[in-house]
Amino acid sequence: MYRSHDCGVLRIEHVGQEVTLSGWLQASRNFGGLTFIDLRDRYGITQLVFNQEERKDLAEQANKLGREFVLRATGIVRERSNKNPNRPTGDVEIDVHTLEVLNASKTPPFTIEDETDGGEELRMKYRYMDIRRNPVKENLIFRSKLSLETRKYLSDNNFIEVETPNLIKSTPEGARDFVVPSRMNEGQFYALPQSPQTFKQILMVAGMDRYFQIVKCFRDEDLRADRQPEFTQIDCEMSFVTRDDILETFEGLTKHLFKTTLNVDLPDFPRMSYDEAMERYGSDKPDLRFDMEFVLLNEHTKGHGFSVFDDAELVVGICVKGKAGSYSNKDIKKLTEWMQRPQIGAKGLVYVKYNADKTIKSSIGKFYTDEQIAGWKYAFGAEDGDIVFILSGEEEKTRKQLNELRLEMARVHDLIKPGDFKPLWVIDFPLLEWDEDSNRFHAMHHPFTAPKQEDEARMLNGDHETMKSLRADAYDLVINGSEIGGGSIRIHDRALQSKNFDLLGFSKEEAEAQFGFLMGAFEFGAPPHGGIAFGFDRLCAVLNGQASIRDFIAFPKNNQGRDMMIDAPSPIAKEQLIELSLDLKLEEKE
Ligand code: ASP
Repeated sequence: MYRSHDCGVLRIEHVGQEVTLSGWLQASRNFGGLTFIDLRDRYGITQLVFNQEERKDLAEQANKLGREFVLRATGIVRERSNKNPNRPTGDVEIDVHTLEVLNASKTPPFTIEDETDGGEELRMKYRYMDIRRNPVKENLIFRSKLSLETRKYLSDNNFIEVETPNLIKSTPEGARDFVVPSRMNEGQFYALPQSPQTFKQILMVAGMDRYFQIVKCFRDEDLRADRQPEFTQIDCEMSFVTRDDILETFEGLTKHLFKTTLNVDLPDFPRMSYDEAMERYGSDKPDLRFDMEFVLLNEHTKGHGFSVFDDAELVVGICVKGKAGSYSNKDIKKLTEWMQRPQIGAKGLVYVKYNADKTIKSSIGKFYTDEQIAGWKYAFGAEDGDIVFILSGEEEKTRKQLNELRLEMARVHDLIKPGDFKPLWVIDFPLLEWDEDSNRFHAMHHPFTAPKQEDEARMLNGDHETMKSLRADAYDLVINGSEIGGGSIRIHDRALQSKNFDLLGFSKEEAEAQFGFLMGAFEFGAPPHGGIAFGFDRLCAVLNGQASIRDFIAFPKNNQGRDMMIDAPSPIAKEQLIELSLDLKLEEKE
């Protein structure tokens, strides 16, 4: 028997019992007469004690053990004289009479503590030791609970889980495909799914009615802290539904997950159109945990001889409450430089301080009278003590820049309450985005998204300009400024789908070769349908108030897309290349 109990359960009521525990040596302390060992497993830590006088050999053996040795210890539970109230097992210890080393351990490359001294790459390389640490371990346990609750809710709502294949052909979600060469079909490749999009739609044509899958998706794109080349989605599709049916079902799922994992009751989610989100926050995923809504200043600022504003398409600002006193000239200069970095690209930053002593200080005092500047105060709803920042320029760029400033102000001035959750549905996205560089339209969501019903006729018959104004029946779930999920009502009609591929620059032949199977299925009784997918890793992170998804993934990849532990990707043997008919290509290159 390896253990009668785990390392997290023993309490005062167990005193007097003989128990056997197995686990890892977290720490040991030698106090001359007594040696203490903290023994750890997934469930907790229990203190072992060895008495030098009573059991000299055993105590000496215990003194020689290093961190992370795997041990089995048998002894009697007794009450501690020096209790540790910070530990659930802190009232007791084990007076050990039998000790066995099940396995030795080299000294770990970083400390196995909540706060570790290990850098991220080192922790990835030795992920098995990183996962022994509480924060990572707890994240994985949380993730497991979240997927269980997801399955419960969806299955209670009549969804069934269906697995779709990983070796498929391209499903465009806007990223590059990872491809897999086929040995049996020389010179041909599978693509790994960027999502199960086409399969779940086919399942609706197949009459499955409500589908879900907690599924890996693969996208070959440049990585950031919140992106991984393979990630997990809660992927869903429903038949005979309108947008509102889907929003209600998945608002329900989100509330269920918050309640069952965090015991948080979320209020009903507000909805905001894409246009409104852009106007009020300069972002299609606004963080509603703080204010600083955008204030449009065109009519207040133009026509007074200040050419920077006069020539701008948009003059827009935000008001930072009570912070006029926090900005010296030097601070403003620093912030302006921050805004001018290439990542943001603002030309400059105009400020107005409505000081607490009622004086007004501004960087554009030369161009506007005091009365005019004082007048803007009302537009901002500003009070004495507030500072406003104003940007101007081309509409879309300026909004994006001000969005960055708004987020920075929230960070710098600590405007986010921990544990605050602000969900939001963003709806009515544009259907198509015009791309100047490639001179063609891109699908804002993906090519299977339906236009809003009232825009359908305009889509089928309208001219080029009309296409820019089409709205999609698409929606995103945003929580705390993170995009948690997105989906749409789908096209279920061959003619409309064909028209969409046409607009997206696919020739008839290309569309047929890539998506003929889907358009073909639309001719055999496709029901109206729609769906959504949640980013599961990100949902885990947001529920835990964390920015990075990496620590919710057991074995994540680094910024170069490498698995540091198994050292992948890696070259393959010449024989494998030959089998896959990839050797010729290599030789051509050489
Ligand atoms: N397939 C979409 C995505 O991966 C989600 C959806 O439209 O259901 O973003």
